[in-house]
Amino acid sequence: MAIRLERCPNPECTRQYILEQFSSAFGDKKERGRIRCPYCGGSREGNAASAYRSRPLPAHFEEWTDLYLS
Ligand SMILES: [Zn+2]
Repeated sequence: MAIRLERCPNPECTRQYILEQFSSAFGDKKERGRIRCPYCGGSREGNAASAYRSRPLPAHFEEWTDLYLS
């Protein structure tokens, strides 16, 4: 399992979220290969061999990454 920060590619959203990536042995079948933004619900292609789960960042952490990592 891997966890990383992703930024939503939707130009009207662009928010960051936490993305967990699992091997496809885990997770819901329908989520396989799809990366979904927890804010706008937009999804995009990921690795078809992986399952993904995305979670919103805590608000204060989102501000922090906007300040220091953008
Ligand atoms: Zn989004």
